[in-house]
Parts: sequence; C-alpha cells; structure tokens
Amino acid sequence: MDSTLVGLNAAQHNAVISPANVLQVLAPPGSGKTKTLTSRVAYLLQHHHYKPWNVICLTFTIKSSREMKERLAELLGNGIESKLILGTFHSVCRRYLVTYGHLIGICKGFGIADSSDTISIIKRIIRRLGLTIDPRKAQSRISSFKSRGVTYAELGQQHAKKKAVEQEEFVTVFEAYEDQLAKSNLLDYDDLLLRSVDLLRQHPTCVSNVEVVLIDEFQDTNLVQFDLMRLFAAKHKRITTVGDPDQSIYGWRSAEIKNLKRMQKQYPDTLVVHLEENYRSSGAILLAAQEIIEQDESRPSKSLLPTHCPGTVPVLRRLPSAEIEAQWIVSEILRVTGLTGKLLIYSDFAILLRSASLSRQVESAMGKAGIPYRMVGGQRFFDRVEIKILLDYLRVISQPHNNDALSRVLNIPGRGVGAKTAKGLLEEAEVRRVSLWNHIRDAIQGHGNAWTKISKAAEQGIGSFINIILTSRNKILDVVHPDSPEDLLRYIIKKLDFQTYLEKNYLNDHETRWANVEELVAQAAEYPVPGNDGFLEEQGDDCLPIIEDLKQEIGNAAVEALSKFLANVALATELQREDEVPEEGKPQSQVTISTIHAAKGLEWPVVFVPAAYEGCIPHSRAEDTDEERRLLYVAMTRAQALLYMSCPTKNSQREGTTLSPFLSTKNIGKSLTNKGPTIGSNTVNDISRILRRGSPLEAEVVEASKSLQNREDNTWPLNGEEDIKTVQARWSKWDAHASNEHVAKRRRIKDG
Ligand code: ATP
Ligand code: MG
Repeated sequence: MDSTLVGLNAAQHNAVISPANVLQVLAPPGSGKTKTLTSRVAYLLQHHHYKPWNVICLTFTIKSSREMKERLAELLGNGIESKLILGTFHSVCRRYLVTYGHLIGICKGFGIADSSDTISIIKRIIRRLGLTIDPRKAQSRISSFKSRGVTYAELGQQHAKKKAVEQEEFVTVFEAYEDQLAKSNLLDYDDLLLRSVDLLRQHPTCVSNVEVVLIDEFQDTNLVQFDLMRLFAAKHKRITTVGDPDQSIYGWRSAEIKNLKRMQKQYPDTLVVHLEENYRSSGAILLAAQEIIEQDESRPSKSLLPTHCPGTVPVLRRLPSAEIEAQWIVSEILRVTGLTGKLLIYSDFAILLRSASLSRQVESAMGKAGIPYRMVGGQRFFDRVEIKILLDYLRVISQPHNNDALSRVLNIPGRGVGAKTAKGLLEEAEVRRVSLWNHIRDAIQGHGNAWTKISKAAEQGIGSFINIILTSRNKILDVVHPDSPEDLLRYIIKKLDFQTYLEKNYLNDHETRWANVEELVAQAAEYPVPGNDGFLEEQGDDCLPIIEDLKQEIGNAAVEALSKFLANVALATELQREDEVPEEGKPQSQVTISTIHAAKGLEWPVVFVPAAYEGCIPHSRAEDTDEERRLLYVAMTRAQALLYMSCPTKNSQREGTTLSPFLSTKNIGKSLTNKGPTIGSNTVNDISRILRRGSPLEAEVVEASKSLQNREDNTWPLNGEEDIKTVQARWSKWDAHASNEHVAKRRRIKDG
C-alpha cells in the first residue's frame, strides 16, 4: 500500500485522495484532522505533478508547523519537506514581503514591531499630541480594526458623521501610529498579513507558483487571513482546510468562526467532509468532554466516538488551597510515573492553565520535588522582570553586601543613577575593597573620598535607596513587631510605588505583571514569623524577663523566615536551571506547563487542568462565556489516558472560590470522580493500549515503585486513595529535605 495512506481510516483516506478542488474537513478533536492534512500534502506531492514550491501549508503555531514538517519527513523521506512553503501565516507572509515587498513600496530590511514596540510608539504619540485616550485600549483597538482590514481613513469617514470626541482621538492616534511605523520602516504583526494582502492584490503573479493551499485550525482564522487564503489560491482555486467550530478560542483576537460558512459560500463546489472517530483519548475522557461542550445549547448536536477503551474516569478534586493543589499535582506525577514503570516519563505530562500567572504555585512545587519542566506560552515565574526586581530588593535587605542584586536595583525605579555612574561606583568599591553597599553609604555620609562624579539627583536617589533598605532591615530586626517576609514585601511595594512603576513602564501588560506581584506576596505569606501573634502586648510587666527572651527569639525568627523564603526561591530556580542542562546526547524529559491557548492541536498522555474556579474559567474579564467553555473543552481533549481537573477552595490570594459552573454537578455529574485513580495492572494495560506503547515489564514497575517509596518517606499511598493529610505530611518532609539539600549545596559551592 502507498506509504502516505497507511494508518488512515476510510473517511480520512477518502479525504486525503479526494479529487475535490475545495475541501473543508470539519471534525472534533483528536479525529485526525491534522494527520489528514499532513497526509494530503504528502499524497499530492507523490501522486500529482506538484512540486514542493507549488504547495502552501499554513498552521497556527510554530510548534505545529515543526511537527508537520517532521511527519512529512517521515512520510516522504527525501528532504522535500524543507522546500515546501510551510509555516504560520505570519512567517509565510514575512517571507513574501522580504522577497516582493519593494513592489508595494516596502523598503528592504524592514523591521518587525512586536507588541512592546507598538505600545511605546502609541504612548509617545499620545504624549506628543496631548491626548487622553488609554494607550492599551488604543493598541488593542488598532489591532482589532487592522485584523478586520479596516483602515484609519475608512474609520475616519464613519466617525466624521458621529462626531464623538473619543472616536476622533482614536482615529488621530491610529493615523499617527501608521505614519510612525512607515517612517521607521517597521511592520507590526497585523501589517505582515495586511500588506501581503495588498501585495497579492496588486501583483498576483507573486504567487503564480502556488497551486494548492492547505490550512490547519481554520476555525481560528480572521478576515484578513481569509482574504489571504483567497489570494494565495486565486489562480487554481485548490484549497483544503481543516477545523472544528467547537474549538474556536480566538474570538477575542478577531477570529471569525463564520469563515467556515464564508468559505462554503465563496466556493460553492466546496466538499465538506466529516470525520467522526476519536483516536486520541480514552472513552471516559471523551464522555466528560462531551458533557462540557453540550452545555452550549445553540450548538448542533454531534458526538465524540471513541476508538479506545473507556479507561480511567477523569478526576475532579476540590483541594483546600492553591498550594496544596500544586503539591497534589506533583505528588500525582510522581505516583503515576512510579507505578507505571517506564511506561510514562515526565514529557508525557502537561499542566494546562487558563492564564500564565497561575503557574507560580506549580512551578515552586515542581522545583522542590526536583521535577524538570518547561514553560510554553509564558515565562517562568521567577524569571519575570517584576518578580526579579522585588526578590533583588529582599536579597539586598537580607544581605546588603550582595553587589549583584544591589547594582541591579539601585536605579529601579529610576533614581537618576545612570549606568555610567553605577559602573563607576562599583569600580571604586572594588578599588577600596569594600562592598558596593558600604561604598555608597560612606559616600553619602561624606566618608569614602573616591567618589565618581554624580549629579545631585543621583545623590538624592542613592540616599533614598539606602533609606529604604535600612528601614526595612530595622523592620525585620524589630524585636516587638518583626516584619514577616510578606509584611516586608508589602512595605517595599508601597515605598517604591511599584504598581505605578509597572503601569508606567509596562503599559500593555501591567495588569498581568501586577497579578504576578500579588502571587509573590501570596507566596511570601507562606513564611509567617512564628510567635508574631499579638502575644507580647497581652503580657503584663511581671513577666518582663520572659518577654525579653521571647523578643530576641522573635527577632531571629523573622530573619530566619526571610532567609528561608529566599532560599526556597533560589532552590526552585536553581534546580530548574540544573535540570535544563541535558545529559549528553539525551533530550531532557520535562513536564510541560502551558496556557490552554498555546496547547491547541497538541496532545499528552496525562493532563492536569488546575484552578477550575469561577473567575478563572470562565475568566472574569472574558466577554464570551461560550468561548470560555470551549477553552475548557480544548484543555480536556488534549488528554489521552488520564485527565485531572482541580479547584482549590481558596485561590492563592486566599479568597474563597466557587467551582467553575461548567463543572458543577448539575452540569457534569457522573462522568467525573473525586477519587484519585487506582494505578493497578488494569490501568497500566489501558494506558499502554491507548498510547500504543508496549506494557512495562513487571520488574520495571516493581523497581520504579520501590524507588518511589525510597523518596525520603515510606508513607506513600499506593492504593490511589490520595488523602490530603498524607500529601501534606509527605510534602513537609520533602520541604525539609529540599532545604537541607540547598544548604548542603551552598556549603559545597562555598568550600569550592
Ligand atoms: P485537534 O482538533 O485537537 O487538532 P486533530 O483532529 O487534528 O485534533 P490529530 O492530532 O490529527 O487530530 O490526531 C489525534 C491523534 O490521533 C494523533 O495521535 C494521531 O496520530 C492519531 N490518529 C489519527 N488518525 C488515526 C488513525 N486512523 N489511526 C490511528 N491513530 C490515528
Ligand atoms: Mg489538529
């Protein structure tokens, strides 16, 4: 049999070889849409006269285009895939503009403005013109108009009739923005698409080599992308798209689910093909996912047909806090890998989050347990700028002679200490053989005579910096009311007016950054100062001697709490960095932490969806509840064998939560269980069948579970009846173990 057709079912096979010029595959998750699309590319190349440069294949993410390329390399095996025009819409358009952009007046060597560039341009315009419009709103409106192909001129004409001041201001900003981009020879992301539309309209011959156009995840295309499809296919009108209206999750970025119908209207001979069987997930996972999507009553009824065994019922757990939720996830990852022998490795696990700011708890827990992970669609929590700044402040407070931390934050927020001055100060300190801290203190007090030329403003700035650090130190050393790490963080945040600092410097995403800051404060709150509970005030004079003792102890406890907090943060980040270095020649197996949006089209054997509470999913700022429900559906249908959803009773800000209405018993009853799955031989066999992997040898399972039991404690519940108390007891042992390891490691580093 033809190798490009091996492993396809009848419907997929027919779609792959279909002679139809315009083909639209509409099918649910895991039914093999991407597989069919990829096979069709291979089939067309092998059985038709097409050359690779006659085929344009467009995907939604870089990861899926990479995977498609790998798959084609397997199917075709002659390096031909590298000659295909295959990539995301943006990358393919960029290539066309680099080659032909001069035809429509785009200068050679144009740059691309990302969202942080575009926001600063908008900010400058607003300032220059003295307007009052909110820059972030202006940015998203500009993008929204551009992704519908609306220009400022068209908008201006509409608004001229209405005469609303705000609208007029917006049109002015829009026009100045476009002008500025042109002057700086920059294109923003929307321009890459829009300008390509211009190019192809005016010079259709640029794509005369293109004979076939194929598009994955078609439900999430916007109007400009629809136009591009038409223009790419203008000459031969041969198009294949695959998509699923139930998985449309980019409406907030102007995606048009209507494009599915629009395509059928534009090309009346469109052949619509449905695929039905699901090859990805267990029957039980599909049943639960189906119950979610069916809550949308406006949706035409259709079912997910499993090809796999029912398998394990998905878990929905209520847990006491976000911290325990993260610990539970990590415990479960260890338990499942342990009990399944070599069947599952870390890269088989994914944790899918509604928003990237939820990752902190999970990242910390992973760090402590020494599990390597990678972040997709977001940055690691402790690598985020706003977090690094605050942690550096805490480091300086705890250890003022830390020159690195001090030089990083000396001028944050801006205090007039420029880079040159800071460098000069550090050099002088080195010459004087004192720490930077001592040097700046001496200088302010008029001691150290080697003093770089610094401005009055810088001198004042340094003075206020020293003041903040000294006051903070006094606050933790205060014997009566020592500040806990949480108090201290709150104090610094207030002193630095950090929220305003973020608003001013990160106009487009200051809210997310502020949410991260709140997360950090919540984490610090996990390190209280013992004994700081008002006990001292209640005591009379007669027990003074005892109070003196206690006071001393409490002062030390506060210092201890701060250094423990910082040590654990360092531990979480350090462990991660070490784990990132792969053993020679062996790719690292890492758990994936991703946003749900970035997980589109992908699959993992085991998936966790934490933080399933109202306000998070559906998100409190989301306008379209149906889209939020589809998002949960997308998350659940990424899972192949095991699916865990959870909801902390309190979120990380310690506010009470309500379970996501999508998951309430009224809506989804019997298809979920609150018991952790028993991982016995039946489960192991089911998992290996679903994943089409050989069952592990019994000896492997025994060995793996033994090493699991050797992990610092032997209270591991092996029957799957996870009990929160056991998780916590085990966790506190790990915690202690992890800090001891950290101390020992520091010592080793110190001793060289
Ligand atoms: P999504 O909507 O999530 O993007 P999809 O419809 O694109 O899903 P694929 O990713 O193509 O689905 O396929 C899902 C999984 O099922 C993949 O692991 C794929 O290899 C497998 N699969 C698809 N078709 C078959 C088949 N006929 N036989 C065996 N496995 C299949
Ligand atoms: Mg797909």
